[in-house]
Amino acid sequence: MQVAAAEIIAALPLPCILIRRDERIEAANAPALSLLGQGIVGRHFITALRAPTLLDAIESCLRDGTARRLEFHSSDGRQETSYQTSVASITLDGAPGVLVTFEDFTEKAQAGQMRRDFVANVSHELRTPLTALIGFIETLKGPARNDPVGQERFLTIMEAEAARMNRLIGDLLSLSRVEAEERVRPTDRIDPSDIIRSVLGRLETLAEQADVRLQAVLPSDPLTMMGDEDQLRQVLTNLVENGIKYAGRGAEVTVSLTAIDNEPRLRGPAVRIVVADTGPGIDPYHLPRLTERFYRIDNHRSREKGGTGLGLAIVKHIVNRHRGRLRIDSTLGEGTQFIISLPRA
Ligand code: ADP
Repeated sequence: MQVAAAEIIAALPLPCILIRRDERIEAANAPALSLLGQGIVGRHFITALRAPTLLDAIESCLRDGTARRLEFHSSDGRQETSYQTSVASITLDGAPGVLVTFEDFTEKAQAGQMRRDFVANVSHELRTPLTALIGFIETLKGPARNDPVGQERFLTIMEAEAARMNRLIGDLLSLSRVEAEERVRPTDRIDPSDIIRSVLGRLETLAEQADVRLQAVLPSDPLTMMGDEDQLRQVLTNLVENGIKYAGRGAEVTVSLTAIDNEPRLRGPAVRIVVADTGPGIDPYHLPRLTERFYRIDNHRSREKGGTGLGLAIVKHIVNRHRGRLRIDSTLGEGTQFIISLPRA
């Protein structure tokens, strides 16, 4: 059986090019033409490829016949794509040639980077309270040894720092649980009105302390849907707590629930839950990144309020698991709305 090499690469899904011994490009398949430019066939590979490490690898392979692997990056001006490139020796019409293939590993590279950033963030977040605890332990053993008033004050701060670490670990565990279950559909039949009432009841004292008024606008008819009760409770707790934390004294936080017969974004019957506050609002610049882990608008303010920076990331994952949508609308000086649509069927 004889199949021309050009025919084989035409059938391959990865960008591939064939280079002859005279250093000209013999053939390129369609993905390679869109990656490297139309009209590269017949040209000298140096004018078509340009990346110095790739040119070196091809020259060396033509010379010694040894296969090589290297990274190749291309950019369309908006985003960079990373390729794992293989340069291998091949016989073309009885003479040595080279087959170059490009495998897109951008997503893998991004996932690796995200993992590294996440570990670095978690370490940093844990180290801050831990450093404070170590410092206060030293003070209690040394300078404050005989200072009962100071001891009391330091122990109170230590308690708050330990509580912050505890919250962070709790949120990390929730996030990993939610992520693990993200593809498993919830199977309980729940009543979102009950959940809203119970969450607002639990947060009443916190709201009073912060001088924030909580209210619910619920439908009079009973409403049920498929959902995970604990997770939806967590979504509402995180959003209402944020309203209490960031809206400021005298503000209002309203949770409203509506049944929608046909939610266009979900193409079917849905419930819409809106958590709206009358706080200072969020600059639109921040909105697209707000649900990223550890993204905060004001680090100092979030820490002061006991925030972990994970609340909205958890909300987004839970909404995803329910195959719902989360939208954040905000007007500076007027307030913020978190709008959640969840399928009812
Ligand atoms: P945190 O633990 O810091 O509250 P979140 O993920 O819950 O983390 O929220 C991320 C950031 O979004 C917060 O640090 C805060 O800056 C901002 N934010 C969240 N909710 C509101 C709100 N209702 N009003 C204004 N800013 C908010």
